[in-house]
Amino acid sequence: MALLPIIYAPDPRLKIKCRPVETVDQSVRDLTRDMLETMYAAPGIGLSAPQIGDTRRILVCDVTREGEDRQPIQLVNPEIVWSSDELYLAEEGCLSLPDHFAEIERPSEVRIRYLDQQGESQEMSADGLLAACVQHEMDHLEGILFVDYLSPLKRNIILRKMKKLKRQKEAA
Ligand SMILES: [Zn+2]
Repeated sequence: MALLPIIYAPDPRLKIKCRPVETVDQSVRDLTRDMLETMYAAPGIGLSAPQIGDTRRILVCDVTREGEDRQPIQLVNPEIVWSSDELYLAEEGCLSLPDHFAEIERPSEVRIRYLDQQGESQEMSADGLLAACVQHEMDHLEGILFVDYLSPLKRNIILRKMKKLKRQKEAA
């Protein structure tokens, strides 16, 4: 088990379109487990492979509240096969943009096809916070961050603050 360093925006590694996993092998299972551990430690409700510097289409999430039993979701090669016309507005944050939040509107319900940890094709439905979380993490696999939905003005304010934070961290 290992905690992986999380990449902060802006960073070119967060703008990459990730590649499909060909075989769900031990390296995929190890990475997925480490991603979950890293997400819980952060703490966060979702994490995608590019945020820890891997370019494979893998994401994890868990939207259960503190004190509830954990319900880890591990998706390899996720695809949205259906999404509702109804939209859901939720405040989103991102482990790659700590302390920044914005309201983002997305389909309120989605159906997702993915490979499980044995490499079997599965489908799941998600709504509300889980749907928002999975769609946010799937965006990461396309190199899209939640700030990309904001006006250029709002996005630049956040990215400028992030650059400053990164400089401070490097100097420390
Ligand atoms: Zn994110």
